[in-house]
Amino acid sequence: MTKTATDQTTAIDSLEHPLQMLVDGSWIPSISGNYFDVYNPGTGEVIAKVAKADERDVDLAVQAARRAFEDERWRRLSGADRGVILWRTAELLEANADELARLESLDLGIPLPQARGMVVEAINQFRYFAGWADKIHGKTIDVGSAERRILGYTLREPVGVAGLIVPWNVPLIAASQKLAPALAAGCSCVLKPASETPLTALRLGALLQEAGVPDGVVNIVTGSGSVVGAAIAAHEDVDKVAFTGSTEVGRSIVQASAGNLKKLTLELGGKSPVIVLADADLPSAISGIAAGIFWNTGQVCSAGTRLLIHEKIFDEVVEGIAREGRKLKAGYATDAGVDLGPLISQNQLDRVTEYVEGAVAEGARIVSGGSRIGEKGYFFEPTVVANVTPSMRMMKEEIFGPVIGALPFSDIDEAVTAANDSEYGLAASVWTRDVGEAHSIARRLRAGRVGINVHRAGGAQVPVGGYKQSGWGCANGPEAVDAYLEAKSVVALLDR
Ligand code: NAD
Repeated sequence: MTKTATDQTTAIDSLEHPLQMLVDGSWIPSISGNYFDVYNPGTGEVIAKVAKADERDVDLAVQAARRAFEDERWRRLSGADRGVILWRTAELLEANADELARLESLDLGIPLPQARGMVVEAINQFRYFAGWADKIHGKTIDVGSAERRILGYTLREPVGVAGLIVPWNVPLIAASQKLAPALAAGCSCVLKPASETPLTALRLGALLQEAGVPDGVVNIVTGSGSVVGAAIAAHEDVDKVAFTGSTEVGRSIVQASAGNLKKLTLELGGKSPVIVLADADLPSAISGIAAGIFWNTGQVCSAGTRLLIHEKIFDEVVEGIAREGRKLKAGYATDAGVDLGPLISQNQLDRVTEYVEGAVAEGARIVSGGSRIGEKGYFFEPTVVANVTPSMRMMKEEIFGPVIGALPFSDIDEAVTAANDSEYGLAASVWTRDVGEAHSIARRLRAGRVGINVHRAGGAQVPVGGYKQSGWGCANGPEAVDAYLEAKSVVALLDR
């Protein structure tokens, strides 16, 4: 692995305001004047220093967002005009796609071609929700009687100041997935990127300004979750929180937001099942399932981590996925030909190692992988584990690494029961040539998204939400705009 220092320097230097936060249209340091380090997980080296906010900075940002909301500088624009600005943002993202992809890959460690795909998805978010901005309308409802006629209608109005808290695993996508519908709806926003990966969100802030989003409508506050995130969740002047992250932190957001009964959208963790029936097209299933677990080094909420395979094809599928994993070339994000980046941090490396070692101690068998790669950065081998039981920690809890555990089943009912036996319900996939069976299993699975012969698919147009402890509400699709709107009913007494 060779470090590409030139790429790092170029990408970081191209951030116009790499160290500051965006509050009320200005790039400012934190009140404390403190900064925190951002690391390249491929090398463990510091690549940027970013303003470290605390509650006081959150308060400033919320006040700015509140002023912008109350004086209607954004929400009073016609939906069409808001849409034009969101579309322009998409164009600016596109014009700066290469730089954004480099930043994302350095910050997250994800190989550059995959980071480019992430930027494309962020662009899609702004294009898609630009289209929704002028399609927000209510209904007319006839009420009353012949003697007392009432015209009822509904108005859809922005919910107010939205706190947007996003995770480190898909930084630019997650920020765009929240900002685009919130802005389409007319909200003012305070965005908190994850402290591990704040760089592309800051760059996005500058592009939103350039696109014409008025000052104070988008504010970006950087810092730790326990201080900045918690302060947003608890702030009395924030009307809504849209959070993507772990179920554990999601629970604390619910509690913190109770003071003023904020509206909440929660996109949380998962432990997604993958069901392979005996008649599946195995070459295609094996490569699709491998992509569904190893992409982004398994640091994906919907990653297929519980593999349920019909007993007749168990060995073939397990060995096939192990082979796919062994083929992946680990390396620095910007090096050519790399398929697998590092985990995000030493913490994450320790966590993944602990789950795998724990499973082995409980009797599991490592089919492939299972160890750290090298000593620099936080690389971990794509890992396939057999001889697992549903009660093992690695089969119940979210690992957030490139680790899949495989269990055999003998009939479909058994597979569906095992798939649904989880406190999570984010995603699932089923692999079969039997179309009828596939759709029937899709209905029986308690998950917010089910793939048939594909694990990871979707996009801005397709709503995704979590069942059970995987969340409340949806991202993507019209449902995402709804989550930033209130419905007001107006009733008018007619003369005749
Ligand atoms: P995390 O829950 O640790 O952090 C998410 C965000 O919340 C970060 O910005 C963090 O700084 C902030 N935060 C931390 N503590 C907080 C607190 N007490 N109050 C308010 N904010 C706080 O999650 P992570 O490690 O960044 O990301 C991984 C998790 O995100 C996984 O569980 C994954 O499944 C989940 N995720 C879910 C989806 C989805 O669509 N359902 C998408 C991506 C990631």
